[in-house]
Amino acid sequence: MNSARNQQGRIIKAHEYQLEKHGNIFCIDKKCKSPLIYVAAAENTSPYFKTTGKGNSIHHKDCVFARPLTFEESITKLQDLQKEFLQKNITPVNIRINLNGIDPDFVSRNIEREQKPFDPSKLIVKSSSNSTSSISSLKSVVKLIELNQPDLLATVILSIKGKKIPLTELIITPDQAYELLWSNKMDESIPYFVYGTIKQYIKREKVYFITFQTEKRFSLVVFEKYFPHFTYSVSQLIEKKFLVYGFIKKNEYKGKAAEMAIKSNDYLAILK
Ligand SMILES: [Zn+2]
Repeated sequence: MNSARNQQGRIIKAHEYQLEKHGNIFCIDKKCKSPLIYVAAAENTSPYFKTTGKGNSIHHKDCVFARPLTFEESITKLQDLQKEFLQKNITPVNIRINLNGIDPDFVSRNIEREQKPFDPSKLIVKSSSNSTSSISSLKSVVKLIELNQPDLLATVILSIKGKKIPLTELIITPDQAYELLWSNKMDESIPYFVYGTIKQYIKREKVYFITFQTEKRFSLVVFEKYFPHFTYSVSQLIEKKFLVYGFIKKNEYKGKAAEMAIKSNDYLAILK
């Protein structure tokens, strides 16, 4: 763990921790508050906090650190923590999202400067981080969520099309997408990430429709022009969990619906 809470409720990062100054430290999950110990930096490791596994220094069974979280759990359970981190001005980790490369219509100009390589499984928080890492595939977004600890993820701010959005506000469910869109709270100038279980895949002559197991009407559409880039079979999609990416638009044909147009297989990434 990279963060802990002291007796006064203040969030403390491992790299700034001093016993005399901050006192005893506890798990940041409010359901847990297990006592933690500080482990100083070693040659190849940054300082961190951990439970000892002895006495009451063990995570509560519902604590976000008790076991690895699934993609969905990470997003839903971290919303409150991320809000608190933002309020308390905890140093964020900025990650730039640039998925231009997955768009079959995008022509690379090559003059775009190479981003430094980024390993999404190793999110590193620096004390004064001005550097921005970059993600260029949907699979890397999934890895980022599945392979990092909750307290690191709660600091992540995604930068997309020039806007900065907290991770847990950009990755949403189909029902949340519908609500945001139809209450006019969605920024329609940026693409969103939506995760859920696919219910139906209907192939028509000029358009494919993919719906999710949702209450509200939300669907993915693939237009004829992109059929060669979209080769999933029905059995590869139905009843499986996916993360999808794209702009979300209102559709009022036969009542209110939310619609995301996608262009290729790369606009979907399967979730465990
Ligand atoms: Zn805990």
